[in-house]
Amino acid sequence: MSDLPAGVERRRFDGDERLATRGEPVYGEPTDGEWRAWNPNRSKLGAMLALGMETGLEGGDDETVLYLGAASGTTVSHVADVAGPTYAVEFAARPVRDLLEAADSRPRLFPLLKDARKPETYAHVVERDVNVLVQDVATRGQARVALENRRFLADDGRLLLAVKARSEDVTREPAAVFADVREELAEEYELLESRRLDDYHADHLGIVARPL
Ligand code: SAM
Repeated sequence: MSDLPAGVERRRFDGDERLATRGEPVYGEPTDGEWRAWNPNRSKLGAMLALGMETGLEGGDDETVLYLGAASGTTVSHVADVAGPTYAVEFAARPVRDLLEAADSRPRLFPLLKDARKPETYAHVVERDVNVLVQDVATRGQARVALENRRFLADDGRLLLAVKARSEDVTREPAAVFADVREELAEEYELLESRRLDDYHADHLGIVARPL
């Protein structure tokens, strides 16, 4: 089992051991004092950590994160509980309202109503050389989005990518979709680990990669 990021702990909630961070609850998750459970069934990154993947996410005030596909903040709120400046890109206005609420109690969480396929529209806001690029956009062209946002990632940074097979092509075998995504990513990334997340998310692949 890999090391968990600083600030992420295994704790008991109602008798069950769960990953947890310290922060205000966001999605009705169980709490215990200042701790909140991180539900791997609601979070691909949570599933990657629960499965023991070596994410390279370290936690700590100095760690910067760019998160693509933040939705209403379920996962990115946990990230901002443990990391430093966390830029959260989401292009749908409705979830961004909830994301702004999650950011109220998290001064290091910066919601951006932007399209992750157009990185030039937030290049003036997001700092360069972020340590971690997390992506969970569940849309067609997931590899391309990761390639286009490589520009923000430090050379020794990590890409933590969740790929949803059905978003690429509902008719194809997930394994074939994942093979194509891996191949496309290889233009600019070295893949360090990839693992199916089916225990928590059907037909999803978790990938850890570093820039070439
Ligand atoms: N990552 C979220 C979590 O764990 O809390 C769930 C993300 S949900 C599976 C995918 C999100 O990506 C949706 O909210 C969708 O609006 C957003 N999305 C899809 N394409 C996008 C794009 N091009 N730019 C920004 N957000 C996008």
